[in-house]
Amino acid sequence: MSDMDLYQRAIRVWGKEPQMLQVIEEMSELTKEILKNVNRKKDNIDALIEETADVEIMLAQLKCCYNIGKEVDAYKTDKLKLIEKRLDDWENKEK
Ligand SMILES: [Mg+2]
Repeated sequence: MSDMDLYQRAIRVWGKEPQMLQVIEEMSELTKEILKNVNRKKDNIDALIEETADVEIMLAQLKCCYNIGKEVDAYKTDKLKLIEKRLDDWENKEK
């Protein structure tokens, strides 16, 4: 079973709304681990790995759920170009 088939199956079996709430739950778990790491200097790399994977899985389900994978990829391509330009401008300012 491909990842995409698995995401579609999860949405079909567990439902769109519960899965979209799960996206939020996983994002909040990752948020918590980032805050522990940055604010409290906690050595929680294992938790960061786990929660990052959870968020990536749920974002993949979100894209599947709304059928927006191609559009997200296109937006990312444009956004990364913009970020590169901003970095170039930023670094050139410092010279
Ligand atoms: Mg989690």
